Amino acid sequence: MPKPLHDFLKQAQRIVVFTGAGLSAESGVPTFRDAQTSLWTWYSLEDLATPEGFVKNPRLVWEWHVWLRKLIDSAHPNPAHRVIAWMEELLPEVTVITQNVDGLHQRAGSQNIIELHGNIQRTRCFNEGYVVGDWEKTEEIPPKCSVCGGYLRPDVVWYNEAIPEDAWLAASHSVRHCEVFITIGSSGLVYPATELCNLALASNAKVIQINPRVTPLDAHASINLRGKAGQIMPKWVLEIWGGQI
Ligand code: NAD
Repeated sequence: MPKPLHDFLKQAQRIVVFTGAGLSAESGVPTFRDAQTSLWTWYSLEDLATPEGFVKNPRLVWEWHVWLRKLIDSAHPNPAHRVIAWMEELLPEVTVITQNVDGLHQRAGSQNIIELHGNIQRTRCFNEGYVVGDWEKTEEIPPKCSVCGGYLRPDVVWYNEAIPEDAWLAASHSVRHCEVFITIGSSGLVYPATELCNLALASNAKVIQINPRVTPLDAHASINLRGKAGQIMPKWVLEIWGGQI
């Protein structure tokens, strides 16, 4: 392990861990790009994960999310999720900011989590936006909201949609005040990933990136760790804190 990484993690009081779809790849939840290589290969992300796609074909979009939710239900947190949860117990202040909608951070034991893109386990009304816990079971797909009669949809942020304001404000506040910003499994190509990485750099945080591939952040990060998060992170526990997960 490079010595500065050891120092950053041991000395930091406030750490932000920012995670993207790549973190859950080792749990068997594909990134959106990979997900398209499955049964749904002939549809584009515009068809499956945009409000426009939902209006055009609500049944298709609902069924795709049902498929993804089932896949997530059968997945388990991987060693990287568990190390992140463990860090929260060990270090003064760790905030997880995630783009993932799979809830695997919660299942690994993390508690201080900001979900930027919602959670696929929740459902909300497409027209009014409120979260709906239950609905009348009929043959209809998607099911209808019992209050307004509109369609129900998963409570996730699709492409072309805004991030919930409270999540964004909490995330940007944490990033502005952190000393170490660890980004894991995000290509960093689009908002909000780019924005949060830039904010961390502008706030003089030490930026650590874990990704098997080159990303635009490579040129700016303090440390680039090239590889899979589930293989890299468990080594930290042993080498930095002398423990085991
Ligand atoms: P992305 O697909 O743009 O990038 C994923 C990144 O993860 C890539 O740079 C890839 O090189 C990296 N990666 C792959 N395997 C890895 C590993 N084992 N360890 C570390 N890194 C690895 O993903 P994104 O930037 O997160 O954006 C896609 C959007 O799709 C997200 O905003 C999210 O809302 C949504 N999404 C979420 C899930 C989920 O909840 N698990 C799954 C698919 C898509």
